[in-house]
Formats: sequence, C-alpha cells, structure tokens
Amino acid sequence: MLNIGIIGYGGMGSYHHQQLIKEEDQVSVTGAFDIKVDRLDLARRNGIKTYHSLDELLRDDTIDAVLIATPNDSHKELAIKAMEQGKHVVCEKPAMMSVKELDEVLDVSKETGKTFMVHQNRRWDSDFLMIRDLYNQKQVGDLFQIETRVHGANGIPGDWRHMKVHGGGMLLDWGVHLLDQILFMVNSPIKEVSCDLSYVLGDEVDDGFIAYLTFENGVRALVEVGTTNFIKLPRWYVKGLEGTGVIYDWDLSNKLVKQTGAIDHHNLVPIKAGQGLTKTMAPPSEEAVTELDFPPVAADFPNFYANFYDVVVNHQEPVVKNEEVRRVLALIETLFDEAGQID
Ligand code: NAD
Repeated sequence: MLNIGIIGYGGMGSYHHQQLIKEEDQVSVTGAFDIKVDRLDLARRNGIKTYHSLDELLRDDTIDAVLIATPNDSHKELAIKAMEQGKHVVCEKPAMMSVKELDEVLDVSKETGKTFMVHQNRRWDSDFLMIRDLYNQKQVGDLFQIETRVHGANGIPGDWRHMKVHGGGMLLDWGVHLLDQILFMVNSPIKEVSCDLSYVLGDEVDDGFIAYLTFENGVRALVEVGTTNFIKLPRWYVKGLEGTGVIYDWDLSNKLVKQTGAIDHHNLVPIKAGQGLTKTMAPPSEEAVTELDFPPVAADFPNFYANFYDVVVNHQEPVVKNEEVRRVLALIETLFDEAGQID
C-alpha cells in the first residue's frame, strides 16, 4: 500500500481524495497540508490527518508519496522539496511553468531515485479514447484533420488562474490536456504550428486560444479552448479519407458517417441553396454514405494510480512519461512565442 499526502487540498486535491484514489486498492490518502485553514478543516472532516506545515507532512515516515495540487507556479519548489525528503511525487498538470523548470525537477528525481509522474488524466477520457480508436483502427480511413475543442461561457474561473505569476490562462490550463491528448495520439513529429491567443475578457492571461498543428505524417490538428462561447462547437470533429466523425460533448453523443464509394460525380442533383444552385454542397445520396457506430472503447493502458503504484513499487513503465510531458511544455512555449506573447 502506498500512503499519499496531499499538498493543496483545494478543488482538485480533494477530488483526488474523494473520487480518484478512493477507488484504488493499492493507494490511499492518509493526510493533507494546505495553507488555508478552511481546506484543512475540510480534510479533517473527510477523515484524514492534517499537518501544520509542509515540513511536518514531509517528515512523516508513514507517507510514501505526495500529490501536488497547488497553483502551477508552486509545483517546482514543492516537487523538489518532497523528493529531497524521500517522497515520490504525483504532480497535477501543468507539470511546471516551463521546460527549464521541468528539467530541474527531473534532475532531482534522477539524483534521489524518487518517481515524478504527472497527472495527465484526460488520456482516460472516453471521448478521447473513441477518437484515438478511430485514428488507430481507421474505420473511416486515415484521419487527416482533427479538430478538438472545449468551449465554456464562464470566463476564467477562480482567483490564481487570472494571474500570470501563478501560471494562469487557458493555454496552461485546458491547453495542456488537449495538447497532451493530440501528441499522445498522433505519433509523428510536429512540422509547423500557429497560435492565436484570446484576451477579450481583459485579463493579463489568455482566456482562450486557437492553435493549428501540422504533423510530419500530414495530419493537421486544430486545438481550441474558449471561455466566452455561449454556443458550443462539438468536442471533436474529425475527417478521414473515407468519412467524418463528430463527438458532440462529454455525454459521448456522436455521429460517424462513412463513404460507400458510390458517389456518381456526373449525375449529382443540384439543390437550391440561398439564392443559388449547388451540386458541390448537395447532401450525398443515400447510397453514397452509411452511418456507423462509434465503438465504445476502454483504455488499453492501466489506470493512473494503479500504474503509479507499479512504477514506484515494481519499476514498471509509466503511462505518462516525463519526456511526453516535456514535449507538451516545449510545444506550449512555442505556441506562446508564435502568438507573439511578450513576457
Ligand atoms: P484550487 O485553487 O481549487 O486549489 C489549490 C489549493 O492549493 C488551495 O486550497 C490553496 O490554498 C492551496 N495552496 C496554494 N499554495 C499552497 C502551498 N504552497 N502549499 C499548500 N497548499 C497550497 O486549485 P485547483 O483547481 O485545485 O488546481 C490545483 C492544481 O490542479 C493546478 O495545477 C491545476 O492546473 C490542477 N488541476 C488539474 C485538473 C485535472 O483535470 N487534471 C483539474 C483542475 C485543476
């Protein structure tokens, strides 16, 4: 059994305790430290030990590992301190504020022999696994265009997420998830990127962005996060050489249409569209397409905490590899540069 102490018992820290780790057999949360008294009170009410200081938690020999779930700018210092005091580390995303910070942390992981693993939980999202299966199994041929979006209408939530010094903004928030999913799925180097950051809400950090990635294997991805979208676009829209797929939302409502090869290009019937006629945009005939079901898909890799246990205890391969985390951070740095953000 691995005993975990949570550093930062806020929204995500308490979610790990109450939801994610509760279901695990080999990992258990035994304590927490937070700089806010009300969060410590909540942790106590939720049945775990609380500590008066970080040092007190790190000195506790019954704690094997810590979960870092604090604002982004504090991850580096906390991770280094925890590993130097003999604890393994699970760190919330974004792992760090920069590649340089991550490299410092990975050096300490190497020196101390302690595991450092980042919680890229959205690799286990069902919508992502369905698209990844479509990409790998080619039910509608090779996917050549992938559009991945999350749209909200509540602006940037909370306090520290509005501040640059704490690593706020949407590229470092939801952007990390969407980019991690794309890079985990498309196994090809990136050839070209462009990025447009949105500042419509007047914050000092981006309230959304649209990035285009072109991979060397020809796949193009549009990655978009919006927080001012009162009407959402679909979570995923993908085009394959033989069809198109949509997953509308996290409820997994979807549509998958495959071309049958029966398009009669010479006898297309035009439709009236607005004030004109068009064959190009006429819907395909019934014989030309068939509707498929998106097969339900389970992850072909272990659960996050089961894997963390195996990495620490049995020295198995992590599902979330630090070089993958590093690649996402490097991409984010490139996107900030490309968008012309001035430090
Ligand atoms: P939050 O503001 O709800 O919670 C952060 C907590 O950390 C607060 O209770 C705060 O008092 C505490 N804290 C701040 N500095 C501290 C310190 N030095 N030592 C101890 N406690 C400290 O924020 P959140 O939404 O829970 O986000 C925390 C982290 O989790 C961020 O890195 C965020 O990106 C990540 N996160 C990940 C997901 C995911 O799906 N993987 C979702 C939400 C948040």
